[in-house]
Amino acid sequence: MKITEHIAQSKDTLFSFEILPPLKGQRIEDIYEVIDPLMEFDPPFINVTYHREEVVYKRLPNGLLEQKTVRKRPGTVGICAALQYRYKVDTVPHMLCGGFSKEDTENALIDLDFLGVENVLALRGDSMKNERFFAPEADGHQYAKDLVGQIKDMNEGRFLDDELQNTNKTNFCIGVAAYPEKHFEAPSLNQDIMHLKQKVDAGADFIITQLFFDNQKYFDFVNRCRKAGITVPIIPGLKPLSTKQHLSFLPHFFKVDLPDDLVKAVVDCKDNAAARQVGIEWGIKQAQELKAAGVPAIHFYSMGRPDNIAAIARATF
Ligand code: FAD
Repeated sequence: MKITEHIAQSKDTLFSFEILPPLKGQRIEDIYEVIDPLMEFDPPFINVTYHREEVVYKRLPNGLLEQKTVRKRPGTVGICAALQYRYKVDTVPHMLCGGFSKEDTENALIDLDFLGVENVLALRGDSMKNERFFAPEADGHQYAKDLVGQIKDMNEGRFLDDELQNTNKTNFCIGVAAYPEKHFEAPSLNQDIMHLKQKVDAGADFIITQLFFDNQKYFDFVNRCRKAGITVPIIPGLKPLSTKQHLSFLPHFFKVDLPDDLVKAVVDCKDNAAARQVGIEWGIKQAQELKAAGVPAIHFYSMGRPDNIAAIARATF
């Protein structure tokens, strides 16, 4: 079922979360161990992230460095199919512009369509670590809105080869990303919202936000989006802070601010166990307020142990 149908059919805020594919060589059962404790909260859909190739350097016995390109977390499509089969939930594979030609994208979407996956989150992806700016493949997409356009074309039966006749129309519900605190490359929040509107105009059906720790930023962002004419559901993304190191990691990695009260509470913690508890309590306050405001779903970013997300969900849903 489509995410938009789940939202339309539910009278209450939905619970959902995203997982990362396991590192290459690890078992899929590791993923099930993260998901199993969260199934009691009845997620109608689970997102599965996509991880493009990375350049790594290996030191050789002669002291020289060997450059290799590796994909550390393959398996997004396979995991989506496995989760749909095992848990009878819908899955939302993330699809990137980065590393994909239009032909690769078309073929990946055909696989997903054949597997009965009806939702995708269309993203640009970040630049590779050895690149300063994002660079698409020679025949790839520069922006997520162009990827949305290709998916929309396939939903209307238009494939890259325009000589194909009587084509199957795919039926993907398309999500895109948004940033209540602005995408780090955008010159202003207004400009970023204008680009978000272009993604919606190109065919996006729903939006999932970057994580944030101050609900007011989400509420203000939604207001600005509505004023800009964006009418699709905007699902807030939450990630519980779980270590003292997160005080520097989260702003650095996700380009978000942490409120002073949260920072002070974590600084005062004597160890990571105490910081994890602060993160849970903060997450409960955020989730309860968002639910009271009637958001369509709350989407949790899960990494590693899911006990903190389960604690927040138990207090909220
Ligand atoms: P876009 O919407 O293409 O925007 C990128 C930048 O370009 C923005 O600054 C935007 O304002 C600007 N822009 C857009 N259109 C134009 C235009 N016409 N002219 C000039 N500028 C323009 N990354 C992964 O690698 N794998 C994942 O699975 C993954 N999942 C994510 C899930 C969510 C919910 C979120 C919020 C992010 C996720 N990311 C993931 C990270 C994401 O790929 C990066 O944040 C990336 O830098 C931007 O992706 P986007 O789809 O928002 O890009």
